Parts: sequence; structure tokens; C-alpha cells
Amino acid sequence: MALKTREQYYASLREMKTEVYLFGEKVDNYLDHPIIRPSTNSVAMTYYLAEKEEYADIMTATSHLTGNKINRFTHIHQNTDDLRNKVKMLRLLGQKTASCFQRCVGMDAFNAVYSTTFEIDEKYGTEYFARFKKYLVYVQDHDLVVDGAMTDPKGNRKLPPHQQEDPDLFLRVVERREDGIVVRGAKAHQTGIINSHEVLVMPTIAMGEEDKDWAVSFALPVDTKGIFIIYGRQSCDTRKLEENAEIDLGNPTFGGHEGLVIFEDVFVPNERIFLNGETEFAGMLVERFAGFHRQSYGGCKVGVGDVLIGATALAAEHNGVASVSHIKDKLIEMTHLNETLYACGIACSAEGAVTKAGSYQINLLLANICKLNVTRFPYEITRMAEDIAGGLMVTMPSEKDLRDEKLGPYVRKYLRGNAAYSTTDRLRILRLIENMTLGTAAVGYRTESLHGAGSPQAQKIVIARQGNLNHKIALAKEIAGIKDSTE
Ligand code: SF4
Ligand code: FE
Repeated sequence: MALKTREQYYASLREMKTEVYLFGEKVDNYLDHPIIRPSTNSVAMTYYLAEKEEYADIMTATSHLTGNKINRFTHIHQNTDDLRNKVKMLRLLGQKTASCFQRCVGMDAFNAVYSTTFEIDEKYGTEYFARFKKYLVYVQDHDLVVDGAMTDPKGNRKLPPHQQEDPDLFLRVVERREDGIVVRGAKAHQTGIINSHEVLVMPTIAMGEEDKDWAVSFALPVDTKGIFIIYGRQSCDTRKLEENAEIDLGNPTFGGHEGLVIFEDVFVPNERIFLNGETEFAGMLVERFAGFHRQSYGGCKVGVGDVLIGATALAAEHNGVASVSHIKDKLIEMTHLNETLYACGIACSAEGAVTKAGSYQINLLLANICKLNVTRFPYEITRMAEDIAGGLMVTMPSEKDLRDEKLGPYVRKYLRGNAAYSTTDRLRILRLIENMTLGTAAVGYRTESLHGAGSPQAQKIVIARQGNLNHKIALAKEIAGIKDSTE
């Protein structure tokens, strides 16, 4: 079976024994937990759309390893078309879920580990590449969700792993055995971790000689003994526990999630290890994963942005101001910013290049430009959405009031906007905007735009390295007629 249906995906999660904690308590049946379920629905959409003929080109691919039809989320990019289709796939999913659908971190991790293990083997004669290909075939054949886990807690940011007061603040090898290794540590902000079958761990920074025990990459089932997850709470999350609050949720069906993943002395068998002490390749792995994930944001954030722009246009309509020139101008501006992000995602894909392993990777400079724009534009888009929506978005009464026998008629009467629309629909749209800008989905749209795939400074470091300033200086000198002289 190379493609799972949405139902098979839900069923496969039910079979797992993933250890999850939320609000200090263990959650046994997490799939049916009202706070968690919307995030599972978002991942399930990656299966559902892959079943649809109309999306086959975007959502599926042919495995270069087996020749089978696979979900694109498990694919290794073979050309620049693959890179472009990835961006289109993420935009589509952003449009369908208006939230983070989580599966991209695994796809980005596969592509980074694939090309890097090839180069490690080339230098050291190790067998990581063959191991990883075998693992990938397993993932593709079972259509698995794999969480790409990079971000360590990092402790004192100025110190490398081996100088940290607590050595566990970067995930590390604590024991080396004949048949494998034992690891300890944590990975923070792990998108989609409990909706994943497997976790693929990578180092989080470039490392030096003395960081050998921290330079480690491996994959394990998420329900492996010793792994447990503390679910990250989100703004307004407990609304999902309230009865009759469907409107108040804004987006009752879909969401995203992050978690703090603890690895408490976990055994990793040899065949699942893809980096073990080759410190100089930690940086390559980080840079490649980050590059792919920065490309991803040129798709997913754009799709969510499409929904936000549409919701804002509706809010304007409900307020009766859709034809006012400055409102129209703001909607154009929001579109301009959103499409600029898309253009960056497409550009870094179109300018992609082949790796030594034969797979394709994005243009690193353009992917970082893409992500640096993402750290800014969604904030601007959000500001205009809130501007047009009006303050009611954050002051209006609850759905319970709307449904109350005494209060309901007043809410309906006084919160009515343009008489062509019902008050209920007006409130629904305002709650959706609230959800994307301030509520649970804001994790994936707003703050994640800043910090996800690396904070702005991380992109600036790559841009400084890749921007080739000296070449630009040489160009200016030539035009200005400046010769190198001691005069
Ligand atoms: Fe995918 Fe975007 Fe979520 Fe990252 S933030 S996992 S790219 S949807
Ligand atoms: Fe992310």
C-alpha cells in the first residue's frame, strides 16, 4: 500500500501508544480530545486531497526508489518541477485548512537527510545513505507522517552543546552499544508530533569537534519507550472544551499543534541512525533542512493568507464598506504582499539545483529571502485584516449570548451590519479572523511566521553568506571607474 486513505490514517494513529500530556494529565485517547482533534484533521487533509484525481499532480509523485505512486509529502525532489509542486501543494493545504497541517517538517527533513547522508558516506565510507533510503521506502510504502525534529532547547544560546551547564539541553548520545545508541534530551516546538507515526531527529546547530555526542540524527516511532510529549497550549485553546461554542472557535474543524518532546534514555538501533559523531555535517544538515522549510513558508503561509484575505473581504461586505476605495486598496495591498511570498517560494524552487546525491534542493539565498519576507508580510496582512474587520472582532459577545433567549435578539439586532447579511454570518467571519490573527491558528500564521524555520537573524546570516557583497562592490567600482590604487 503506497497511499493511505484519510480513514486509514486515523485508524493507524489509534493503534499507536504515543504518550501525551496536556494540562498536567496523561491523555489516553488523544485522537478524540477536543483540543487536539482539529490538528489531526489538518494532517488528515494531506491524505484526503491525495485521494482526489483533480489534485493528483500536486499531491502525489512517483517514488524514484520504488516507482510506486506516493504521497508527495514522502517524496525526494527529483527536479525543479517537484520543488514548485511542493509549494503549490502547501498553498492548497493552507487554503483548505486555514492552519498548519504539520506534515511538511518530515518532508523537509527527508530531503535534507537524503542529500547529506550521501555526502557523509562519500567522506567517511559510512553506510548512512543506504540505511536512509531503506527507511524512506518504509515510510513511502506505509504513507507515514514523520515529524522532522530539529529544535533543541539550547540553554545558554552563547554556548556550544559541550559547554552547557546541563549537557541534556542539546539532545545527545549518552551510551554507545554494539547494536545502537541511547539518547537523552528534548526537542521543542515540535509541529505535529502527536499526529506523526515517526520522529526524525536532526541536530539544531553547526557543531565543532568537541560536540561529537550531540551530532546525531536518527528516526524512531513516536511511541517508542522513553519518548513522551507535553502538548503546547495555544491562545484561546480552552474554547474548544466549551459547549455551544462552534462559532466562537472561528475554525472549528482544523488547527495545528506543537509539543515539547522528551527523550528519556531512548534506545536507537543501528539501522535507524543517520549521523553519529560526524560533527562537520551537522551544519550542512541544519542549513539544508532550514532552506527547505523556508521555502515551505512560501506555500503554506500564502494559503492561509488567501483565507484571511477572503475573510477580510467578507467582513468589509458585512460592514457595508466593500466598495470604499481605501478598503479596496487595502485588500489589493494584502494580495500584493501575499503573492510576493508565493513568488519567493516559486522562485527559490525554479532556481533549485541538483545535489551530489541526485536530488534537488532549493536556491538557498532565495529561500532565505522568502522566509525573511514571511517574518514581516503576514504581520502587515494581519494588521490590515484587523483594521478592516473592526474592533468588534475582539469585543463581541459569545455564541452562548447569541443563542440565549433573552440576549440573543439584542445581539442579533445591534450587531447587524449590512442588512443583506445575517448577524450570525457576520460573527462567524469575525471569529475566523480572530482565530487566524490572535487565536489557535495564530501559532501557525502569526508567531510562527517570525520564529518557525528560524528567527529573522538566522535568515540574515545565510543572506550575508550567500548575498555575495564583494561581487556587488566590484560591479559598482567598474561602473564608477574606480581602479584599485594606492594613490
Ligand atoms: Fe507545514 Fe507551514 Fe506548518 Fe511548517 S508551518 S509544518 S510548513 S504548514
Ligand atoms: Fe514550521
